[in-house]
Amino acid sequence: MKLKLYIAGLILLGLCVPVPAQRCLGLKAWYDDYNKEYFSHKLPDQVIIERLYRKDVLAWTSKDEAGTFHITFSTAFKLGERHEHLTLLHEMCHVKTWDEVADGTEHGRKWKICMYTLRSEGAFDSSLIEAYDGH
Ligand SMILES: [Zn+2]
Repeated sequence: MKLKLYIAGLILLGLCVPVPAQRCLGLKAWYDDYNKEYFSHKLPDQVIIERLYRKDVLAWTSKDEAGTFHITFSTAFKLGERHEHLTLLHEMCHVKTWDEVADGTEHGRKWKICMYTLRSEGAFDSSLIEAYDGH
């Protein structure tokens, strides 16, 4: 009972939600968790996760002149929490394989290996990889 009240309080404050792994709401918190859990903490800690309006994509990854990655979610789409987390993993693979993106191959071999590795670790199924063939 005390725990339920505590969680409800956190939800009211907008700080945390009682998701299965006890993670706090907030895409940066998920980024940090996924970085530890699936990327051996090799992705940069410093990343800006933001929201901007763009109607042609759900999300995208970019790198600014200072070398900081930005993972941007479009406000044109209302994604459910699960879909947003899967999209975050997709973008994190772009961070990991940024050299490939810089060469002009956004969803190339390295990105696919990253995604298949995540799949093999149980993050999601392969349909989220194969849908990008040819893009
Ligand atoms: Zn992509």
